[in-house]
Amino acid sequence: MIPTEPVGSLPRPMKLQETYAAYDAGNASFDDLAREQDAACKDSIERMEATGSPIVSDGEQRASSFATYPVTDTLAGTGLADHLAGDGQYFAIFDDGHHRQLPRLTGGPFRYKTFASDYLEKSLPYATKPMKQAVIAPSMLWLLYPLEGELDGYPRTQFESDICDEAEKDIRQAFAAGAKRVSVDFTEGRLTGKKDPRNPWTNRDLLGEFIDLNNRVLDRFSPEERVNIGIHTCPGGDCDSVHSAEVPYEHLLSRMFDINAGYFLIQLASEKDKEGVYKLIGDHLRTDANGVPQFAFVGVINPLDPRVESADEVADALKTAANYIPKEQLGSTDDCGFSPFSIDVKPKHGSPDHARDVAFQKITSRVQGTEKASEALGV
Ligand SMILES: [Zn+2]
Repeated sequence: MIPTEPVGSLPRPMKLQETYAAYDAGNASFDDLAREQDAACKDSIERMEATGSPIVSDGEQRASSFATYPVTDTLAGTGLADHLAGDGQYFAIFDDGHHRQLPRLTGGPFRYKTFASDYLEKSLPYATKPMKQAVIAPSMLWLLYPLEGELDGYPRTQFESDICDEAEKDIRQAFAAGAKRVSVDFTEGRLTGKKDPRNPWTNRDLLGEFIDLNNRVLDRFSPEERVNIGIHTCPGGDCDSVHSAEVPYEHLLSRMFDINAGYFLIQLASEKDKEGVYKLIGDHLRTDANGVPQFAFVGVINPLDPRVESADEVADALKTAANYIPKEQLGSTDDCGFSPFSIDVKPKHGSPDHARDVAFQKITSRVQGTEKASEALGV
């Protein structure tokens, strides 16, 4: 079978988002929040299993966001980790005008206060199928350090060494807790080519540095381990908006496969020139990345669009992709998580609760369409 895998997140139910707000305002306890998170994880896993998906996630219902879970309990900054202030760099400014801001490091040492495995351990008892876990790339955490200058007593080189150690630990602990697959979110990859005057770091041509940093972590894992370690790329997916879709994909795809990961979860369904992207992937995907063949899981579902793709559409996309990407290295995925940030009312969907219903229909189409393509392609 052609493998198929979700990126990770699902919209948080309205009730959970309201509990986050109440917790930030001091009107709900951490136990109240944890209870809603648990309920949302259980519902996410049960409904994702019902789609037929061979591997499931808990929808990241306990995470403040895909990027900030190691350092803060809520997006508003309740429970911020040591040596951080709320007013850091913009991670991204999205096309609809909203932005997401990272915390700012004020000193060292940098340590995660929460690892992805802390969430996974709580969710695994709800699952009867194998689970995956998404983690954040060290290249995203690199943006916590001020872009200019050095922090007193905590040089950038020491910080880089610390984020690599923490990111390695995050991946190892997720496997140790029971994850079958671990994918590393690398949405900042495409943003490195954005050159947005409002967002200085996107003018620094950081792609090479980011790839090197991520490889410092990946290279600590054996080929057997890296078979199950993936990289996710997308042009963003928050409040049904994107941050870097206009950046030519070639800028990223011509270099991304230099990362020594075993597989890549690649946004593609929302691309205008899909065949051009399939070809780019086929041209650059490696059969030997320091001991592992790389798989390209192409996006066949657009989580930002409420229209549900049909299974036939999914199958057709994969059959076309197989003209450019070897079918023994091909997989399918969603373009992104369905809600990487915990607070997201999914405006194009009308409500996060409706967006959850839509997400499970879309995942069902992905699974069924991938089965059809497997039959057609003889995989
Ligand atoms: Zn994404």
